[in-house]
Amino acid sequence: MDRYARQTNYRNLGEEGQKKLLSSRVAVVGAGALGCVSSNELVRAGIGFVRIIDGDQIDLTNLHRQILYTEEDAKAQANKAQAAAKHLRAANSSVTVEDIGEHLVPENADRLLSDVDLVIDATDSMEARYLINEYCVEHKKPWIYGGAVGSEGMTAAFLPGGSCFSCFTSVTKKENDVPDRSCRTFGVLNSLTAIIASLQVTEAVKLLTGADTVRKGVLFVEIWDNEVKLLPLEKDPDCPVCGKREYQYLKFRDE
Ligand SMILES: [Zn+2]
Repeated sequence: MDRYARQTNYRNLGEEGQKKLLSSRVAVVGAGALGCVSSNELVRAGIGFVRIIDGDQIDLTNLHRQILYTEEDAKAQANKAQAAAKHLRAANSSVTVEDIGEHLVPENADRLLSDVDLVIDATDSMEARYLINEYCVEHKKPWIYGGAVGSEGMTAAFLPGGSCFSCFTSVTKKENDVPDRSCRTFGVLNSLTAIIASLQVTEAVKLLTGADTVRKGVLFVEIWDNEVKLLPLEKDPDCPVCGKREYQYLKFRDE
């Protein structure tokens, strides 16, 4: 039996697409709500190497949306990356799942991101996103942003040479004066995190298999009041990151 039969039967993937997925390497930064869903889908889809990065421990409030974890994991206060990897190895032992029980920081960015083809942002931290953005701009790696709070989520694929996350946030900062909204204070629907992470994985699979249908722009969804928008993503010529390569986060790397 071929475990990927239902996927290789899909016309846009086929055996060729599957081969590409099996030889791909992806880092998932964060193993919370988004990271549980995205690493689950990536490992089951047969991405050959998945590195799960998270320094946090599991607690009971995580279980409503962090779908890889059990009450036992929460009781043991297990590390998220380790617990996620353990559950996923049981789901697909034919690919490599690596667990890194650390937070992504400037000092370990090169060690954790240099040998992957693509980075999935599953963090809940703007600082981590800016670090991923700077690293990926500098090293010409695609990465896929995802964010979800309450019933509102956003996702976008940032590709080498295109507009970057700083281009995007320089626009939204002017329009949006609600800083640092977090799931801790605003809550989040578990169906939303599943949607956003699944959208991220879809773009990842397209990128890794060379599809020409990767979504351009930032997809915004509001699932309670039913709003879906595709916001344009434009390159800011004055962007400090992709324009001038002035890095705020990466500069600490060699100090
Ligand atoms: Zn930029």
